[in-house]
Amino acid sequence: MTTVDLRTIKLRSGEQFRDEREVQLEPFELGGQRYLPVPQNVPAELTITRASTGTVFELRFDARLHGPCFRCLDDAALDVHVEAREYQAAEPGGDEELQTAYLADNKLDLSTWARDAIALELPDKILCRPDCAGLCPVCGKNLNDEPHDHGEPEPDSRWAALAELREKL
Ligand SMILES: [Zn+2]
Ligand SMILES: [Zn+2]
Repeated sequence: MTTVDLRTIKLRSGEQFRDEREVQLEPFELGGQRYLPVPQNVPAELTITRASTGTVFELRFDARLHGPCFRCLDDAALDVHVEAREYQAAEPGGDEELQTAYLADNKLDLSTWARDAIALELPDKILCRPDCAGLCPVCGKNLNDEPHDHGEPEPDSRWAALAELREKL
């Protein structure tokens, strides 16, 4: 887990701190599948801006997640670009809007923040490619490797009867 000890960063009102930090990313669960950040440690740009009323934290990084394709279960990779922003008021007075959840005992938890920020960027489905054909619903084979079908399904007899009737009229 990557944290930043804010006691080591002394800022006066109006001052800004900017540094590159290596952030350890955590694995994700999405749709019951597990996705791993590769590499697990990514360089992130951390910016801290101090104002008289509070502090703004900004985190920017790129990450790549590896895991199974939602449709065919083959390997899939997803690139995400994250630009996250948090605010901590000097005197939040118990208002949750005015404080960040990632700050405790003067330590900023970059790993948890990065994980939540990635989660906001994730699509509903992670696919190996946008037009992935998925698995055959009949035999379970990968339709990307072996495009095939199992013939026309039986026509619905009610419609067939109706069509016959129409021909007679
Ligand atoms: Zn796929
Ligand atoms: Zn099949």
